[in-house]
Amino acid sequence: MENLQYTRDWKNENIVVTIGRTRVGGNHFLLVAGPCAAENSKQMAGITDMLSGSSVKLLRGGAFKPRTSPYTFQGLGKDGLKLLRQTADTLKIPLVTEVTDLKHLETVSRYADVLQIGSRNMASYELLKEMGHQAKPILLKRGMAATIKEFLYAAEYIASSGNEQLILCERGIRSFDPAFRNIVDLNSVALLKKRTPFPVIVDPSHGSGRTDTVLPLSLAAAAAGADGVMVEIHPSPEIALSDGEQSLSPKDFQLWIDKLSGLAHYLGKTV
Ligand code: PEP
Ligand code: MN
Repeated sequence: MENLQYTRDWKNENIVVTIGRTRVGGNHFLLVAGPCAAENSKQMAGITDMLSGSSVKLLRGGAFKPRTSPYTFQGLGKDGLKLLRQTADTLKIPLVTEVTDLKHLETVSRYADVLQIGSRNMASYELLKEMGHQAKPILLKRGMAATIKEFLYAAEYIASSGNEQLILCERGIRSFDPAFRNIVDLNSVALLKKRTPFPVIVDPSHGSGRTDTVLPLSLAAAAAGADGVMVEIHPSPEIALSDGEQSLSPKDFQLWIDKLSGLAHYLGKTV
């Protein structure tokens, strides 16, 4: 892949991204979980119950949501950030949440430990350049119709602007098949791990759009060399305001933790 700078020739070792006491990359396999979006304090109390004492070392959750339809729940904005921050503090783990627009950057930065750039903004180059100036790690999700090369160029916008604390996230690409919301591209995981020293994680929740395949896809991601998996969870997925159909229930989540951490240990990683 011509013209790429941040390759294994640049650094022939795995970059470990550090977020407080949380690590991802190298030997560190990271479990990330949380709701699609913060909805209210009852839901977040349920999330706290699900995550307390678990091996999840990074809380995810949206406050400024990039929804496909303007008529669906758009997230609680700043109130959502406060709920997410409180939950992360109670659990004593860091928080990743999305920045959808430069005008929210200062506010989101006040609450987040990791800034997420979502699929829809992977090619928002001004946003990417600004991420290069942030003193926080960035979680960059692959655009839903971006080639691997375009994904790597997007990552290099951030790295070449000054921020090498970067985590890449494969979150599924568009396909012709309506059985799934997207197709988790494990080819990309295998290839990215050969090409780039940055940690690569997988989001099988948005990647498939359905809870019943989240566990097998998570295991496949770990086997393909991913450095972590990020999933959506909800105490009562049937009443979730967004993405309930792909959010793990408390029971499914427990099984997910057990199986995935078991496989990670088998692969010689720490969870
Ligand atoms: C998310 O992770 O909250 C999200 C909106 O995912 P994506 O950007 O991959 O669609
Ligand atoms: Mn979601």
